[in-house]
Amino acid sequence: MYTARNYVFADSPEHAWELNQKKTNTILSGGCWLRLGRRRYDTLIDLSKLGLNQIEQTDTYLELGAMVTLRQLETSPLLAQYFGSYFSDCTKHIVGVQFRNCATLGGSVAARFGFSDIVTALLPLNCQVHLVKAGWIPLTQYAAMPYDRDVLTHIRIPLQKQIQVAYQSTRNTQTDLPTLTCAASCCDGRISLALGARSSRSALLHGNTQNDLLQEAEHLTYVENMRVSSAYRRHLAKILIQRVCTCLEGGQHP
Ligand SMILES: Cc1cc2nc3c(=O)[nH]c(=O)nc-3n(C[C@H](O)[C@H](O)[C@H](O)COP(=O)(O)OP(=O)(O)OC[C@H]3O[C@@H](n4cnc5c(N)ncnc54)[C@H](O)[C@@H]3O)c2cc1C
Repeated sequence: MYTARNYVFADSPEHAWELNQKKTNTILSGGCWLRLGRRRYDTLIDLSKLGLNQIEQTDTYLELGAMVTLRQLETSPLLAQYFGSYFSDCTKHIVGVQFRNCATLGGSVAARFGFSDIVTALLPLNCQVHLVKAGWIPLTQYAAMPYDRDVLTHIRIPLQKQIQVAYQSTRNTQTDLPTLTCAASCCDGRISLALGARSSRSALLHGNTQNDLLQEAEHLTYVENMRVSSAYRRHLAKILIQRVCTCLEGGQHP
């Protein structure tokens, strides 16, 4: 468990950013990951009074605040209206409901874990993230950047007509960290597919057919860890790609 000398509610995103520049301070969102560490912080910066827990719609995109919880993603009628069960599929295996009521979208994306169900699911949706200093940048760019001290405030998901989406993951046991995550979107016949939990970063592949994606996935590096060997992860990638492509075609995955 970590300890901290001060606890501050940021009164604006800029205030949070200023406080976060000091290396001994840190942003506290859900605190679910942070609590596993044993660091001594000077100041914990709480974002919960900035109104960042909303999911809002404009004509062209959905805008999600960084403090939206994983449970909100899972149960939002607005997300379900545009993406069906996609956000429920990518969140429902993460620990349990009480945990998902605390863990946040911002904490999940900012931490950029290689295993992240959330980053994998967002990557094929052409999202933008908003950072206090860097402004709006593509999630693909942010996901590839090393951890920095900017503060993530919002994520925008463009509303694309006729988009189809599908999400799959594998775990050794229910609620464990995933051994592989796979998410895909299809727009005008073009498929974007993200494979996460594969290496330290998620990969985004593009193709017109399942075979294009299978060939691209062959060239990726699959790392080994305590959960799975690289050879088995490579094998799982083929299976998950076939499953999401079957879902995109409107069929049932096996
Ligand atoms: C036991 C366990 C199992 C898990 N299993 C899964 C799983 O199966 N799939 C999955 O996808 N995830 C999993 N996770 C990760 C989890 O879903 C969250 O991603 C994680 O807890 C971070 O979210 P948080 O809101 O708790 O962030 P915190 O713990 O509060 O913060 C995490 C890090 O991000 C920084 N940070 C937080 N918010 C911001 C922000 N707005 N801007 C900039 N930096 C920020 C913090 O300073 C900290 O360094 C698991 C976590 C745990 C502890």
